[in-house]
Amino acid sequence: MDNRWRDADAAGFADDPLQLRVYTSRLLGQDPDLVLHGGGNTSVKIEQRNFFGETESLLYVKGSGWDLATIEAAGFPAVKMDVLLKMAQLKALSDSDMVRLQRTAMLDPAAPNPSVEAILHALIPFTFVDHTHADAVVTLSNTPQGEQVLRELYGERMLIFPYVMPGFVLARDIYRRTRDIDWSRYDGIILLHHGVFSFADDARQSYERMIDIVASAEACIRERGGMLEVDVSTERPGTEPDPAVLADIRRQVSRLKGRASLCRLAQDPLSLSFSRHDELDRIAAQGPLTPDHVIRTKRIPAILDQEPGAALEDFAAAYRRYFEKNSTAGLTCLDPAPCWAVWPGTGTLKFGTTVSDLVIIDDINRHTMKSILQAEQMGGWCALPEKDIFELEYWELEQAKLKKGQQSAGLQGKIALVTGAASGIGKACVEALLAQGAVVAALDVNAAITTLFTQEAVLGRVCDVTDSAQIQSALRDLVRRFGGLDILVSNAGTFPPSARIEELDAEQWERSMAINLTSHQRLLSACIPFLRLGIDPAVVFIASKNVPAPGPGASGYSVAKAGMTQLARVAALELAGDGIRVNILHPDAVFDTAIWTDEVLEKRARHYGISVQEYKSKNLLKTEIRSQDVADLACALAGPLFARTTGAQIPVDGGNDRVI
Ligand code: ZN
Repeated sequence: MDNRWRDADAAGFADDPLQLRVYTSRLLGQDPDLVLHGGGNTSVKIEQRNFFGETESLLYVKGSGWDLATIEAAGFPAVKMDVLLKMAQLKALSDSDMVRLQRTAMLDPAAPNPSVEAILHALIPFTFVDHTHADAVVTLSNTPQGEQVLRELYGERMLIFPYVMPGFVLARDIYRRTRDIDWSRYDGIILLHHGVFSFADDARQSYERMIDIVASAEACIRERGGMLEVDVSTERPGTEPDPAVLADIRRQVSRLKGRASLCRLAQDPLSLSFSRHDELDRIAAQGPLTPDHVIRTKRIPAILDQEPGAALEDFAAAYRRYFEKNSTAGLTCLDPAPCWAVWPGTGTLKFGTTVSDLVIIDDINRHTMKSILQAEQMGGWCALPEKDIFELEYWELEQAKLKKGQQSAGLQGKIALVTGAASGIGKACVEALLAQGAVVAALDVNAAITTLFTQEAVLGRVCDVTDSAQIQSALRDLVRRFGGLDILVSNAGTFPPSARIEELDAEQWERSMAINLTSHQRLLSACIPFLRLGIDPAVVFIASKNVPAPGPGASGYSVAKAGMTQLARVAALELAGDGIRVNILHPDAVFDTAIWTDEVLEKRARHYGISVQEYKSKNLLKTEIRSQDVADLACALAGPLFARTTGAQIPVDGGNDRVI
């Protein structure tokens, strides 16, 4: 446990308690062994003059939606202390009423909701209060004699309380237990199976107490034989899964979830070591590290110890039973899909609708697996009973969020592949798909593709689409990274130099056929097995106006694009039975691409004796056609708007009397 306090960094905030609060909150938030992704909360009590010149006692406490790692002063709504203290004395209060009451006592009604632990922070009579879900403390707590071990470890310095549901119930419980105590005798509170509080009138002291408390727990784990770092150095590599099996798992999880889900395979030494544990069924089936992880990960993972489809069905059936058994009236059952799975001998899988879900679930289950393996070395892993986990999973505040409905972008959870993605229409398609919430494999022969997109949702791969082996390898990477394929935008192309038929260079002709036609057949054929396992799968071919309205001097290009169009029409016939839609776009005069430099545009415009602007909008609607316009239409074709359309050819050309 590192003490990250730096005098030089803190010096600038010495007179400003709120800024100091921001500083030490970030120190806590940046250590994943203390809190993960929005977990934990902190506060500072400040006396402040209000508009009427009266002095008020305020609690600045972490606001919901903020992460301690990156929190700012605006992330600490101020709540009136007297109201919070009065609330602690109420006999009962629903958590939604608690949130409502807290909002009425806020200094700024536009600030975020205060943490649900605000009352508890108010009860602790010190200026600074820090709360984390430190791995080491919770791990000790989750062992057979956890409470006794912690009591022996901390002696009289710490208050140790049994687990109760966070929110008002916990605040009320702490109020009752601490009414008559002498707080000056204590450095902190341990909430069994949940986390730690430290406190002091000085920001540094409160922070350093937290570090000391957690460091002692880490030392205790070492003494008791729970290796702090699981020995993963000798781990054998995992079995390489068949990408089709992986895509099928992802399809079944999406079906259980009721919406497209991503899936990511992890085969690092920790995941492998966990997946090979002799008693995996027992250790993985007991519950999370700390109860609030349940919102992200569900109580337990699926274990794929039989045929994956059957294992997922079993998980869903068991989840429904768990709901029936623990549910009270009026609760809405969540989807029965797992959030993660352990695949014996192969690794772990994470399921989520966004890349950030995958990252959060991955971080949480990595800490969970490590703690479980440590606890197993200290007598066994004892998570909270399922009733307590259920209570948090179906907490009224979480259910309220469900009822509000989740807003999601149109293609969220969808997996796309775009070729010719480094420039022009291909690049615009990647951007449009991302904007709609999809993740994308962006393929291009240009090496710049690997650094062009920096988003986690893009897999940029160098790929020569005329080489089947390179296509196969890119598809394998895509499936490992995101779980499958739903949308193919077959776009890669080349425009050969203009030449009349009798002057055609044989090599140029062959090259146009190879890139503009044959590569599309190869790509489609490699993608079909994955599209069959996709969610509402769709293919969009980027053809050309030259198909319905060819021009002289471009036979190499037009013939290949006409062949591609025919390929797409046959594909629409062949793949309809699998629910795969295949549609075709015929763009024309898209000038914001690499081949159309200002120079070339001016030359062409002069040739016609018109201005560049007139040249760019030389169509019936007198409108300019940008790559983005083509990309937006490609996205629409891949989305629900065109769910009942296949085999269509749509011009994107501003209107052309030869096409109409
Ligand atoms: Zn907590």
